[in-house]
Amino acid sequence: MTTVPLLDLKAQYAQIRAEVMPMIEQVCASQQFILGEHVRALETELARYCGSPHGIGVSSGTDALLLALMALHIGAGDEVLTSPFTFFATAGTIARLNARPLFCDIDSATFNLSPIAVQQFIDQHCTEHDGLLRNRTTGGRVSAIMPVHLYGQSADMGALMAIARRHKLKVIEDAAQAIGTEYSDGTRVGSFGDIGCFSFFPSKNLGAFGDAGLCTAGDAELAEHLRVLRVHGGKPKYYHPEIGGNFRIDELQAAVLRVKLRYLDGWTEGRRRNATLYDTAIAKAGLGDKVRTPPASAGGRHIYNQYVIRCERRDELRRFLTEHSIGTEIYYPVPLHLQQCFEYLGHRAGDYPESERAALETLALPVYPELDRAQLAHVVASIAKFYS
Ligand SMILES: *Cc1c(COP(=O)(O)O)cnc(C)c1O
Repeated sequence: MTTVPLLDLKAQYAQIRAEVMPMIEQVCASQQFILGEHVRALETELARYCGSPHGIGVSSGTDALLLALMALHIGAGDEVLTSPFTFFATAGTIARLNARPLFCDIDSATFNLSPIAVQQFIDQHCTEHDGLLRNRTTGGRVSAIMPVHLYGQSADMGALMAIARRHKLKVIEDAAQAIGTEYSDGTRVGSFGDIGCFSFFPSKNLGAFGDAGLCTAGDAELAEHLRVLRVHGGKPKYYHPEIGGNFRIDELQAAVLRVKLRYLDGWTEGRRRNATLYDTAIAKAGLGDKVRTPPASAGGRHIYNQYVIRCERRDELRRFLTEHSIGTEIYYPVPLHLQQCFEYLGHRAGDYPESERAALETLALPVYPELDRAQLAHVVASIAKFYS
């Protein structure tokens, strides 16, 4: 009986154990647990990997977003354009700073924030005045745009950056699922906007042994601001011109991530290979009218943190696959504008039809690099059996 978990981190650990354990030993021997040599080295290595001048290691992807917003002085009275079809932290961090998440719908093919929807929102609901963009309905300042590179595929950064430039909006990229992702022109994500935010949650392509994250920044002053806010805004230590937080990354996590980073491109290629195998096998099984495979934008590099299909009778298919020992997940079942905690924003069902449809129709299949051909064949055969 073939079983296929959604993700099997033990298979990955087996590959790197012999290299990781001495690194952990070494950090323990040094008893240097906070912002040490591994953190500094990791920051340099990851900044280079992302094609960005500066890297600032932080405590999680969520904290990367929070810190980015804080460094750009986004707070009460500000509004941030973003997608309602994403992990909670995208809008959660905006709201925690008393700014307002300003949702715009997604592109139906890529599930990423639609530049057309963003431009339409600005044209229909905003007024430009003294170089400031105002939301006429709320009176708020539209200050920033936070695209998400969902599932590991770049948002349409060409069009979104053009909108940002036109309206003087700051850009924070939620690249939590997208380390090494490339836009169609070959540029790595996290290097487009003012700040890029990455997560090393264990299930991301580059996963720590716990929580960790990273901010990338193009501007040296902004990078320094992020570093200061990471340690409570103290500069020098114990003198606080502004309020920051504890957003530090652990030295142990940095040591683990440095080992894993050397494997990342190999793992990503494994995910991409599996995605292609799925695409081909699903088409060959004649499932094209029941299952839509995730279209990868031409020229880009999709890193497939998730391989997400759109399918008929999604919930039934999911139950069927569970019965056949195949792990799946729904990312995400409730779009953020319909979350209870965002009731105060006044949205209702029907406001963002593409996001709502995606929440009902999408299903993530196992795509981790260590999947073997038999497992992959079992997934596709089971899907075919369900629809036959
Ligand atoms: C994982 C994720 C985050 C949050 O990262 P954590 O490290 O879990 O805090 C934010 N945004 C998106 C899109 C994510 O997938």
